[in-house]
Amino acid sequence: MRLILIGSPGAGKGTLAAEIEAKYPVVHISTGDIFRENVKHETPLGRKAQHYLETGQLVPDDIVIAMMEDRLIEPDCAGGFVLDGFPRTVHQAEVLEKMLERHGLHLDAVVLLDVREDIVVKRLSGRRMCRCCGAIYNVEFRPSAAGDRCEKCGGELYQRKDDEESVIRNRLKVYNQQTQPVISYYEKKKMLTRLPSPPSGHTLLEGLEQAAGIAE
Ligand code: ADP
Ligand code: ZN
Repeated sequence: MRLILIGSPGAGKGTLAAEIEAKYPVVHISTGDIFRENVKHETPLGRKAQHYLETGQLVPDDIVIAMMEDRLIEPDCAGGFVLDGFPRTVHQAEVLEKMLERHGLHLDAVVLLDVREDIVVKRLSGRRMCRCCGAIYNVEFRPSAAGDRCEKCGGELYQRKDDEESVIRNRLKVYNQQTQPVISYYEKKKMLTRLPSPPSGHTLLEGLEQAAGIAE
């Protein structure tokens, strides 16, 4: 299974992708996580990306594309993948299409997580992340059972620099300007599945399985 998740910052892409990975034989590839790891370890890629991440701007296409060309040919991708945070520009989408064609691969679905902007802002400002395993929590909507530590691994929870209010606004602006056109791109190709916020008592994963016709 090969899926792309598109959605504004805070739409829940990372949370949904982790749920898909736990249930299906696919790898979750988050470009944001890859960049954060590289920033943490001060690699050459991390040094190039750091400023963009901290200010909520997109990392330039050539850097992201080179990274994804390497990542998608790693052996663990053979069973399928969920892309979380890529493509984020029309140019990235075009290059991805050519990459997949070259390898004879097709996409099963491109899923748009449709969430209202006011909800997204609330979620982002309460978001906390585990420094060790990357698990995502929310002080208001999804607190950790272990308080200010991660309930999965005991790691320290922190607030991402780009989850501060002024940067959130910039990320949403960047999303509207540069990633919205990616939605139209897949819509024109009739590949887009819209996934609305689930009614209470239902998870996003259930909604996705219904909307995209995915089942175990
Ligand atoms: P969110 O979706 O919540 O904004 P991510 O973790 O997906 O957060 O991304 C964090 C940051 O990483 C982005 O603000 C951007 O700087 C960089 N980034 C991630 N994916 C891409 C991409 N496909 N193209 C350019 N920059 C990216
Ligand atoms: Zn953890």
